[in-house]
Amino acid sequence: MPRNVDTGNIPQTEFSTLRAFQDVIQIGKAPHFVGSKAHSVVRNYIVNELQELGLEVQTQEGYSLTKDGEISWSQNILAKISGSGSGKALLLMSHYDSAGHSSFGASDAGSGVATILEGIRVLLTKNEPHKNDIILLFTDSEELGLNGAELFVNEHPWAKEVGLALNFEARGSGGNSFMLLETNGGNAGLIQHFIKAKPDFPVTNSLAYSVYKMLPNDTDLTVLREQGNINGFNFAFIDDHFDYHTANDIPANLDKETLAHQGSYLMPLLDYFKDVDLSELNSEEDLIYFNLPFGKMISYPFSWIFPMLIIGFSLFFAVLIYGFYKKKINLKIVFKGAVPFLISLVGSAILVFLLWQFCLMIYPEYAEMEQGFTYNGYYYIASAIFLSISLCFLIYHNLGTLEKQAGDFIFPLFFWLLICTLTALYLEGAAYFIIPVYFGVLQLWVMLRQKSPNPFLMLLLSLPALVLLLPFVTSFPVALGLKILYVAAILTVFLFVFFLPVFGYFKRKKALGLLFFLLFNVIFITAHFKSGFNEKRPKPNSLVYLLDTDAQKATWNSYDKLVDSWTQKYFGEDPVILTSEKEAFSSKYGSGLTFKSEAPIVNIPEPGIFFEKLNTSDSLKNINRYSLKIAPNRKINRMELYVDRSFNFEEFKVNGLEADSIYLGANPFHVFTKRWLNRLLIYHAANRDTLRLEFAVKGEKIPEFILYEASFDLLENEKLKVPQREKTMIPRPFVLNDAVILKKTIRFDESPK
Ligand SMILES: [Zn+2]
Repeated sequence: MPRNVDTGNIPQTEFSTLRAFQDVIQIGKAPHFVGSKAHSVVRNYIVNELQELGLEVQTQEGYSLTKDGEISWSQNILAKISGSGSGKALLLMSHYDSAGHSSFGASDAGSGVATILEGIRVLLTKNEPHKNDIILLFTDSEELGLNGAELFVNEHPWAKEVGLALNFEARGSGGNSFMLLETNGGNAGLIQHFIKAKPDFPVTNSLAYSVYKMLPNDTDLTVLREQGNINGFNFAFIDDHFDYHTANDIPANLDKETLAHQGSYLMPLLDYFKDVDLSELNSEEDLIYFNLPFGKMISYPFSWIFPMLIIGFSLFFAVLIYGFYKKKINLKIVFKGAVPFLISLVGSAILVFLLWQFCLMIYPEYAEMEQGFTYNGYYYIASAIFLSISLCFLIYHNLGTLEKQAGDFIFPLFFWLLICTLTALYLEGAAYFIIPVYFGVLQLWVMLRQKSPNPFLMLLLSLPALVLLLPFVTSFPVALGLKILYVAAILTVFLFVFFLPVFGYFKRKKALGLLFFLLFNVIFITAHFKSGFNEKRPKPNSLVYLLDTDAQKATWNSYDKLVDSWTQKYFGEDPVILTSEKEAFSSKYGSGLTFKSEAPIVNIPEPGIFFEKLNTSDSLKNINRYSLKIAPNRKINRMELYVDRSFNFEEFKVNGLEADSIYLGANPFHVFTKRWLNRLLIYHAANRDTLRLEFAVKGEKIPEFILYEASFDLLENEKLKVPQREKTMIPRPFVLNDAVILKKTIRFDESPK
């Protein structure tokens, strides 16, 4: 990724990270989730910036309902720079809303908005002619349910013109930005053009592409691909995952190099795709691809996977037979070589797994990190790596072959060939792992022929493995949380064995093992000194006030595992964690409520409920139609409606939108998450707008709804007098937090009101 980006005096005709950063500062001044005051401030800022560039700006507004039952009013910002041709348009997009309730959205996705704004300034200053129309789209409500993208792709006439989208995103606040593409067809066209566009710092690989295709995804680009068949490139960074969606996603925490990296993608790609025929990007073929250091990209077709695998096996067995024939090795030596490898592999995985369990035990506060990645998480990744290397050296010292180093290398190579076979069958994008095996077979051949091969040559031949594997050692635990820290250990051992042609000849393996163990200790102890919470690494905590209007009972609730000086006041010093909690607020990471205590009942204005039978009911077909209106009587942020899942609707409309996913009896998420079993929909209200349902049911049975009406203003509520947090604390992200929630069961009442 780019380095040393803090220099001033970049001409207006080049992307300036510092100028882009000024936009991040403006956007990241305050939480700007949908419905907040700052949301309109940020919208106006973007509109102004575009207008100052002489662009005609439009906002697209409307309700949209996603397949997960999330409904919101979105206000997308759009502008178009017309090209000289009549081909497909290039779309640059990012979202301008931040995650509710407390994220400042500097990285997510202020960095994306800023990258595009600066890129367009440069483009317009250079004033070069271009063939394709360039459409700018700053979506709204991305954080709610990708509603803005949904609104654009389904309702905006420009959506039909788009041939390619470049989307800028963030899931952390630093590190390099990774390119992940989305297409309904094969990736060949997109990758070939991406390489031709020559970005300076491409970071991408087809392993991520294959994994990504297998998972249910959720970026704005997914909506465009699924509903508009639009191809796209996503550029997103995930380092410092602990800042994601928190009050710590502030401009100061965004790495400038990361912002520069986003710019280093945008500028060459914009320059290239502004003139290319964008209808040519589709292809049936898939490519394997990956980046090398220093900006080089390698790619080849999927059709080479099996030939390359067969070549790999053939070369391996040829060298093996050569070794047997020359009596350099025998079967016994080969099988003996499996022992240190398998013990290292299993041993490291178990050791690191236990290490993390131990950490969770001595640092129970780590459980409060909703992202699963602690502030000192990188020290644990380093710990896992050093502990694994230490174990490898010690095991190879004791169990490795002293005379026949080649013997130790054969089984691991064969194991890698088996992994490559599995990837060829099930995870094609990862099939390029065959390449380090080729180098390994070459090393094996040299090792069979020479008593002590040149260590520098051996090191050189081991480097491809390092280049291809090392990025995964760190990125897996960052992306998926430290609970999979043992994966870093497994990958380290996999990587270690590729260096057996070097390490195998070392006389002092034991000393090295002890040295790495010492390093492990130093890092692990350093992690300890960075384990506490402070202003820079604030402790997430949570508190919500829930007024159950049915039972006329009010409670304080939390999702935390530990009380602190702020929550203690409500739950006592040693509260019991409830295990079966029925309140069903959603959280991205699946946290349920933990503490509960009685709270004073204060007056929270209840919403007006208007539940009527409609005269369009069809008695012949036994279809009854109803209208339900819920009109909030206070400033709220969201309403969640629950209904028994077994209940089937014949028709369902919400705020005028047809909700086909709902009346089929289940929304698709029900399959995945039990937690949302009965949830019908979430309405992200931006103001006091009424929620309007119209539905039809068969027969006389009328559904009973449970409403949770929430506002994010617990700390501003004058009657509840909740004090502000200390500076060493932040609101727990991803959960409905700092909220005043009103619960109400809605039943149909025949009596006229
Ligand atoms: Zn985002």
